[in-house]
Amino acid sequence: MEQRRFIDLRSDTVTRPSKEMRKAIAEAEVGDDVFGDDPTVIKLEEMVAFLLGKQKALFVPSGTMGNQVCLRSLTNPGDEVILEVNSHIYNYEVGAPAALSGLQLHPIKGEKGIMKAEQILEEIRPDNIHHPPTALVVIENTHNRAGGTIYSLEVIEKIYEVARKCNVKMHLDGARLWNASVATGIPLNMYASYFDSVSVCLSKGLGAPIGSVVAGSTEFIKKARKNRKMFGGGMRQVGIIAAAGIYAIEHNVNRLAEDHKNARLLAEGLSKISGIYIDMETVQTNMVILEIKDKEKDAEWLVGRLKENGILSIPFGKRKMRLVTHLDVNTEDIHQTIEVFKRVFEG
Ligand SMILES: *Cc1c(COP(=O)(O)O)cnc(C)c1O
Repeated sequence: MEQRRFIDLRSDTVTRPSKEMRKAIAEAEVGDDVFGDDPTVIKLEEMVAFLLGKQKALFVPSGTMGNQVCLRSLTNPGDEVILEVNSHIYNYEVGAPAALSGLQLHPIKGEKGIMKAEQILEEIRPDNIHHPPTALVVIENTHNRAGGTIYSLEVIEKIYEVARKCNVKMHLDGARLWNASVATGIPLNMYASYFDSVSVCLSKGLGAPIGSVVAGSTEFIKKARKNRKMFGGGMRQVGIIAAAGIYAIEHNVNRLAEDHKNARLLAEGLSKISGIYIDMETVQTNMVILEIKDKEKDAEWLVGRLKENGILSIPFGKRKMRLVTHLDVNTEDIHQTIEVFKRVFEG
């Protein structure tokens, strides 16, 4: 296959299901999940509910639908949602909170993606007839646009205390919560314990082809199931996909540590190249964000040069690039990538 020869660092979504995962898919027991009949989906939902320490979970086709089902289920139209200005929900979900749930978003600038409790406290609306009610705070862990940065439990706990005092709910966009957990050793359920709803992706670093799962209380999931149907996410014999998710959770979580090691190796190698700037403090999981120092050069140019040399990448701003490690990238690929960068920048 033509594509196979490239080292693909565009995203951790580019992974293809392995032979073993495909076998799990082929052998999955299925039923009509809208009727609640699919045993493989039920198994996946129970697994994730257990891992996140929640009463119930719900399988959804994408992370976007997961976030949007949660937002819809925790708010009323006209409510306000506080979130980080570079968050996925604010930037990459096509304005869905406004379009699907009638929500007003209230963005706050975090430090490397991380918001502080004091900032949030400032922005929660007082009870005044003119204001939209603040209903929800969203945290993204790890933070994608900031380069995979991790929220500490201390920061989350402080935000939780502020939210609780003000009667505001909490949603965790945990698309890459697995990465945060593997990097810190903090169990998923400990992170999740501060949130009314949590969304996790199976199709990122875990390597499944499709799917996310949301989790929360029994009452919340009942609402979420109805809203998933309304958003068009009621699926039928979807155990064939859930099977890939189960396989991914059983086999591909602990190995995320390799992706983190590879990202660090890549960042260390690239940061030695004059012409590139990397904030090493943000290299905490499986991403590297680099900046091209030379004002004559830009990310488009770099993407082109890398592609000529067998590396796929995407720009992340005019002179910025995000590189992502995943289970289809090995340490040898990282060494090769560093060599290519040296050639491109230093001749
Ligand atoms: C990928 C991602 C999502 C969901 O994206 P989908 O492409 O809809 O699955 C949500 N939040 C974050 C932080 C993400 O990186």
